[in-house]
Amino acid sequence: MIRTLRFWILTLISFSIIGILTSSLFSSYLVTKDSLIDNSLEQNLVYSKKLAEMSEELFSSMQLNLEGRKADIIKLLDNPTELTIVLNQLIVTSKNFNSVSVIDKNGLAIATSPNVGIAGTVIQSEGVKEALDKKENIITKPYMAATGRLLVLVSTPLFNEQNEYLGMLNGTIYLEEDNFIRNILAEHYSKDGSYVYVVDHSGTLIYHPDEKRIGEIVKSNEIVESLIRGDSGASITENTKGDLYVAGYTLIEASRWGVVSQTPYASSIEPLAGIIWKIFLYALPFIVLFLVVAFVLSTKLASPLQKLAKYTMDPQFNRNELEIPTWYFEAKQLTETVENYRKKQEETVEDFKTQSLTDPLTGLKNRRFAEYLYSHLIESKNNFSMIMVDIDFFKKVNDEFGHNAGDEVLQFLAYRMNRVTREEDYIIRLGGEEFAIVMPNTLLEEAYRIAEILRKDIESTLPPTNKAITISSGVGEYKYKAEAISSFMDRIDQALYKAKSNGRNQTIISKYSK
Ligand code: GH3
Ligand code: MG
Ligand code: MG
Repeated sequence: MIRTLRFWILTLISFSIIGILTSSLFSSYLVTKDSLIDNSLEQNLVYSKKLAEMSEELFSSMQLNLEGRKADIIKLLDNPTELTIVLNQLIVTSKNFNSVSVIDKNGLAIATSPNVGIAGTVIQSEGVKEALDKKENIITKPYMAATGRLLVLVSTPLFNEQNEYLGMLNGTIYLEEDNFIRNILAEHYSKDGSYVYVVDHSGTLIYHPDEKRIGEIVKSNEIVESLIRGDSGASITENTKGDLYVAGYTLIEASRWGVVSQTPYASSIEPLAGIIWKIFLYALPFIVLFLVVAFVLSTKLASPLQKLAKYTMDPQFNRNELEIPTWYFEAKQLTETVENYRKKQEETVEDFKTQSLTDPLTGLKNRRFAEYLYSHLIESKNNFSMIMVDIDFFKKVNDEFGHNAGDEVLQFLAYRMNRVTREEDYIIRLGGEEFAIVMPNTLLEEAYRIAEILRKDIESTLPPTNKAITISSGVGEYKYKAEAISSFMDRIDQALYKAKSNGRNQTIISKYSK
């Protein structure tokens, strides 16, 4: 099925709008997604940094706490009871240690708080060995203590005034129990699935919201790898379960631990759908407006061509004047062309019509016109009178002066007939030198009068041959429906015949009788 111009304009505009909308929504989607991810990366980085700084401060205050008690402790190394009292105070003031202990240079635990049952024994643990070895401030990596606890040791060495090494003062953090890291971090576990974890410099989990994982080695994780290398930063990463996360990570300088804050990728871009939907809703009134404008415009644009098409499809097409309001070039041009074509055609048809109804020699109407005229007059219920004229002895004119001169005489007669008849009369050349004058709404007497005027006019006027001619006529009046047109014609013919046989140059009246 062939579609209209308007349909195609609307289709084009709709496609354009849908295309623009889709592409702008798609680019908004990409831009928004990128910025949401960037935002989440930044947030997680800032967050991990903040937590690292807090931890950093806590570590240094813990170290300070231990160092502040060193002098008291060195004095009491020989007095475990007193020492225990000092340690009891220390653990209360420091808050962040799960336990504190003093161990001598041989690894013997002198005193602990709280009492974990190791006082008086030699401690063989990794942490203590490392501290004995290094004789400096250290924070150990997590290790399993003799008590079966996974812990981290914060240790400061003890030296006397002679700078002789006496042992160490230790604070421990039990990783699997309530501890300061957990206190800082646990509250940050959020509903959107974000969480924080901490690894030490060997890649062991020191803190994880899933407690079972504490102590697990997660070196293979790319973020942990970066942290082990000593970097901080933010990136999109897969966790051990293969889920995508947006992560920020920062190294704690004091302990060389890394704090990782991460948000599930899906949560980071969760607002995306809502944002795109909002963009769409904001765009909607404009789309509707554009569509309405497009609708109106397409109607206006298509209307001249539509009218033109309808106009040319109308079978009455060439009878009506073309009136199409056009406001753009193509339609205007097309309308003008069609209109010109129509006018020309109309003129041509009119020309043919006139030609087919006109006698070329005299310019009078011909017999075909006469047929139309009779039926028209009868149809419109008009009475009319008719004079039938025939030139007397016309043959002789031809014989004497030639056919051309005969033609001129015929033209002469036509001219004279035109002169004596009235505006409303029809003069017809029926054929040869035989003519009819049809006079609508004219009484017989009036027709006879005019026939006589004509006869006398011809008789007394010289034709181009300079030899006068005469005419004979039959006159009758046709009354609507009184008789058949053919019998009317017959009786006029008979009247004419009578005029001829009576000696010519006369007018005979035919009267209707039933
Ligand atoms: P009548 O008085 O009985 O009418 O005699 P007539 O000679 O006029 O009658 P007829 O019908 O015998 O002759 C008519 C002539 O008219 C015959 C023909 O040569 C001539 N004629 C017919 N048509 C034309 C025409 O177009 N031009 C010329 N020059 N002559 C024509
Ligand atoms: Mg004749
Ligand atoms: Mg004749």
